[in-house]
Amino acid sequence: MNIHEIFENLIEIQSIFKTIGQHQLTIDEENKRLIFLKCQEKIKLQEKNEIDAQIICYKKELDELEIKCFNGEKNIEKSKLALAAANSKFHMETATNQLKLFQENYQSDSQSLFLAMEKIENSTPGQSEISQFLKNFNATFLEIESEVKLVVLREDNIIAELKKRAESVLDNCPDQIQHLFKGLLKNYKNPLIFVGLEANASCQGCFQRFERSTLEMVHSKKAVQTCPGCGRILIPHNN
Ligand SMILES: [Zn+2]
Repeated sequence: MNIHEIFENLIEIQSIFKTIGQHQLTIDEENKRLIFLKCQEKIKLQEKNEIDAQIICYKKELDELEIKCFNGEKNIEKSKLALAAANSKFHMETATNQLKLFQENYQSDSQSLFLAMEKIENSTPGQSEISQFLKNFNATFLEIESEVKLVVLREDNIIAELKKRAESVLDNCPDQIQHLFKGLLKNYKNPLIFVGLEANASCQGCFQRFERSTLEMVHSKKAVQTCPGCGRILIPHNN
């Protein structure tokens, strides 16, 4: 294999990697759709939990107020009987005051009871709206999830094929080039740097400026050269 073929192979491998990156991006985007939907669901579930907890509180309050009103009614009845049975001015005054107090309490408890009922009534539409949303959401999510799974499967297969192709192209290269390239891949996504002949040319990977002698060596195409700064493979680029 001559040096031109080595360059061609390496460039092909890097371009395959670029394509793999694009397919990986598609997978990431698809997965992001699911993550976004899951976030939306989480927010709605939190809202639902808050409303549910609030309604439980209102119902407890309502139960307590019902008992209070029930007892209040009994107290009023009792005070009315006491008033009817009062046989002195003092007893009458006491019974009247007592009745007045019970009536005031009853009125205030009844108002609170009415408010509690109203609060429950006002919370219910929100609760059923969210329940409906979550029900619809589950169906939509499952649909989108199966779409995403199909795309991811398709992309994974394409990536596997591309990886195989890249491997087979690399297998054709001399052992030392394979070794060098694989070593660079551990650190760099793009192990190749294209180098022109202009005087101020520098490595696009590590930004080190090349010596004139390095540039000439690269463009003489006698052997594969690497960047003195980062070790990436230098490919002569005519521009
Ligand atoms: Zn470099």
